[in-house]
Amino acid sequence: MPKKFPTSHQPHTAATPSLPVVKISPRGAARLKSGHPWVYRSDITAAENVPPGAMVHVADQRGKVLGTALYSSSSQIAIRMLAKNDAEIPSLPSLIAERIRAALAYRQHLVADTDAYRIVFSEADFLPGLIIDRYNDVLFVQILTQAMDAEPVRGAIIQTLVEGRAPSPVQVDSGAPPAGIVERVDARIRDLEQLPPRQSGLLWGTKSSTVIQMNGVRFHYDALEGQKTGAFLDQRENYATAARHAHGQALDAFCYQGGFALHLAPHCSGVTGVDSSRPALEMADKNAALNGREIEWIEANAFDLLRDYADAGHRYDTVVLDPPAFAKTKRDLDKARSGYKELNLRALKMLSPGGILVTCSCSFHVSAADLLEVVAAAANDARKTLRLLEDRTQAKDHPILLNVPETGYLKCMIFNVSN
Ligand code: SAH
Repeated sequence: MPKKFPTSHQPHTAATPSLPVVKISPRGAARLKSGHPWVYRSDITAAENVPPGAMVHVADQRGKVLGTALYSSSSQIAIRMLAKNDAEIPSLPSLIAERIRAALAYRQHLVADTDAYRIVFSEADFLPGLIIDRYNDVLFVQILTQAMDAEPVRGAIIQTLVEGRAPSPVQVDSGAPPAGIVERVDARIRDLEQLPPRQSGLLWGTKSSTVIQMNGVRFHYDALEGQKTGAFLDQRENYATAARHAHGQALDAFCYQGGFALHLAPHCSGVTGVDSSRPALEMADKNAALNGREIEWIEANAFDLLRDYADAGHRYDTVVLDPPAFAKTKRDLDKARSGYKELNLRALKMLSPGGILVTCSCSFHVSAADLLEVVAAAANDARKTLRLLEDRTQAKDHPILLNVPETGYLKCMIFNVSN
């Protein structure tokens, strides 16, 4: 007997729930076409009844779907793309879990000699608005957008990190899950994204401080202290390279908790670290003790100290300059250039023949070409001849995505001073 099927029309339940549609201007569409995954608010032409942080379809003026994105109702970056064209995303939490696992897998072959590295770098890992760092057994999470802040996405992030399914360097060397997951909240960003205020604190587990190692050097780490994360991890490969060139008397200007200074110490006859932050120097001193090193720490404005030392005829064989970002926006570029020039000029005046200058900039708006130009001008003024030994950038666990220039920000150049 043939089975009778109901004849009435059954509603079709699609795998992808129908998404709200955000329409964008031709300029916004052209930007997406050129490969950049952001659309600015000024290029949104229609976003009716789209909830903050929603997953949306992005469409051009004629209604053609250009892809799927995360929407912010308040940020200037209104759209951050997740997938192009009509690729289906059945569930945002499972997409995010899958991309976190892919980010972990990507790092397995890239990261060596450390238990501290960036696991997820936002757009560069196709997870816009999410940053996750591993510091040994403590994971550190920053959530920067409405979409990443909403449940069930938050829960999915934590669960993925705790499960640490293979391939997963989140599993600490014993194979155990992390001992703590700490969220660091930036009040200014939450304000910009119009998110309810939150406190920094543990999301999971009990541990928020630990000891990490990189390149054989150990550091204390406290996720709930310190001015920022990353000042540390993005220089990891540069620390090791700088150490290979360093010798004699070394000066680490803007030393923070001693990242360069501690790497240089085994190769130098003496190291001095300078920073204006007393808490950073207190941690630097603890780090020196942890590694059995003696380093002189000076609390000072590095600009003043470099000028005074240069005027007083101090000599060094190695100088590191790793100042904070001078150019936060494009408009600051000229001022930033003169800041970098001043620092490099003072450093070069103190460097002996054969000396090493390690000069860094973490300002996205200052390009490598800008920095080279500034150092060349400083060298000219100081009457020194330089040879470029290393033209470097951020560690590979902070990937630079070619179609998102904003993901590449760190410059680290190492010069030999030949006279
Ligand atoms: N080299 C460090 C990171 C430096 S971050 C590392 O590898 O970990 C920039 C540092 O500059 C911060 O520690 C900040 O306290 C310090 N700083 C900012 N302005 C300063 C100034 N005018 N003089 C000295 N230090 C300054």
